[in-house]
Amino acid sequence: MKIAVFALQGAFAEHRQMLHRLGAETFEVRQLKDWQQSKDGVILPGGESTVQMRLLRELGLFEPLRQEILQGLPVFGTCAGMILLSEGYLETMDMRVRRNAYGRQLGSFHTFGSVEGVGDELPMTFIRAPFIEEVLSDRCEVLARVEGNIVAARQGKQIATAFHPELDDDMRLHQFFLSLCA
Ligand code: GLN
Repeated sequence: MKIAVFALQGAFAEHRQMLHRLGAETFEVRQLKDWQQSKDGVILPGGESTVQMRLLRELGLFEPLRQEILQGLPVFGTCAGMILLSEGYLETMDMRVRRNAYGRQLGSFHTFGSVEGVGDELPMTFIRAPFIEEVLSDRCEVLARVEGNIVAARQGKQIATAFHPELDDDMRLHQFFLSLCA
């Protein structure tokens, strides 16, 4: 199993480490020619969605990425990566996301919660996090809520979390993602 990890900006190294611990191979995507290798899935990491979006466009990666996802390539977006999958960005998941939804001060916190189909008591680290304001079709399934706010969703082989599972020691979400890639 070979997973592309976007490495334009943000927290990509931790995703790679976690995937390696689960026995997957990974490669970093920094430019179009990296992207043009065969892959079983792709990770869009956290970071700064405005910067990532600009780089995707400048590097000519926006459309190739979007097309492969629409053709069924499994994708896991965390935090800024979740924003990229939403309305107004790549728009491959039917959801509207609110950036910095907790405000600048309260944006970073840690909690535990359940994720539908993945498990209970999952550690959830939020860093200047977004949440999903609304899912826009019934193809987009809510997987988790924290204090009423939607913090994880799935649409086919696409999953998105507002939090950063790669920063905790629990590998269940990455395991779940790899099961979608298999
Ligand atoms: N606040 C960032 C954004 O809006 C997301 C933060 C993160 O990825 N940890 O893009």
